[in-house]
Amino acid sequence: MDLGIKGKTALVCAASKGLGKGCAMSLAREGVNVVITARGREALEATAEEIRKATGAKVTAVAGDITTPEGRAAALKACPQTDILVNNAGGPPPGDFRNWRRDDWIKALDGNMLTPIELIKSVIDGMIERRFGRIVNITSGAVKMPIPELGMSNGARTGLTGFVAGLSRSVAQHNVTINNLLPGPFDTDRLRSNMAFNAKKAGKTPEEFAKSRMEANPSKRFGTVEEFGDACAFLCGAPAGYIVGQNLLLDGGAFPGTF
Ligand code: NAP
Repeated sequence: MDLGIKGKTALVCAASKGLGKGCAMSLAREGVNVVITARGREALEATAEEIRKATGAKVTAVAGDITTPEGRAAALKACPQTDILVNNAGGPPPGDFRNWRRDDWIKALDGNMLTPIELIKSVIDGMIERRFGRIVNITSGAVKMPIPELGMSNGARTGLTGFVAGLSRSVAQHNVTINNLLPGPFDTDRLRSNMAFNAKKAGKTPEEFAKSRMEANPSKRFGTVEEFGDACAFLCGAPAGYIVGQNLLLDGGAFPGTF
């Protein structure tokens, strides 16, 4: 299928590895010029080179913390015409809410709610004028099925989801879509570090814990970043223009509901 986005420009946040990298790679394969960000410059430059080599696309790397005004300004400067925005950042740490202070919560809200909203604010009017825009927020399956130890993630991402539900309906008439991708367990460093936390709590090794989690998933495995990236590229494509304000769960069937 031709996604019809060759030559468009995408800003893919938090993309030196994991799900963001998967999205940048899949978009680049479709001929999209990508601007990728992450805090660690070395890994980011290496990823940019890997995507260039694999796809021949134009890839610009902007090192910086996307949850800060300076990080966002630098990313947007490198991407003056953003046709596609993939919002992503690290997730808040696990823990017991009794230990979280106001500053911890503010950090979580900045990372997983207010940063995507700020970036949407910066790019959406240009998208409306050009009558094309695709925004995908990487949130979490926790929006549908909360993960007890990731309380700050549950809270901040659900706030973003509520906001997007309203905004997406008000811009759809301009061929600007906003949707959320909800990852279940994908094989990334983030998943491995969360599993290490839970394995310790359960008195298991990380390997034992990972095996039992895979066994409990209807697909009997974790998702791959390539699968995630391709789903993202599809949502960013021209043929996906009627998909508006949706929360697409990619979890191998882990959520047990009918809808
Ligand atoms: P990952 O493999 O740890 O990769 C995170 C990427 O984000 C890295 O490139 C990292 O690079 C970058 N990053 C982190 N904080 C950043 C910041 N403040 N500014 C710019 N870049 C930043 O994580 P992942 O598994 O891909 O997860 C991506 C998101 O999906 C997270 O919010 C995570 O909570 C969520 N999620 C993941 C899963 C899963 O199973 N993997 C499930 C549900 C939700 P630097 O560290 O160099 O900045």
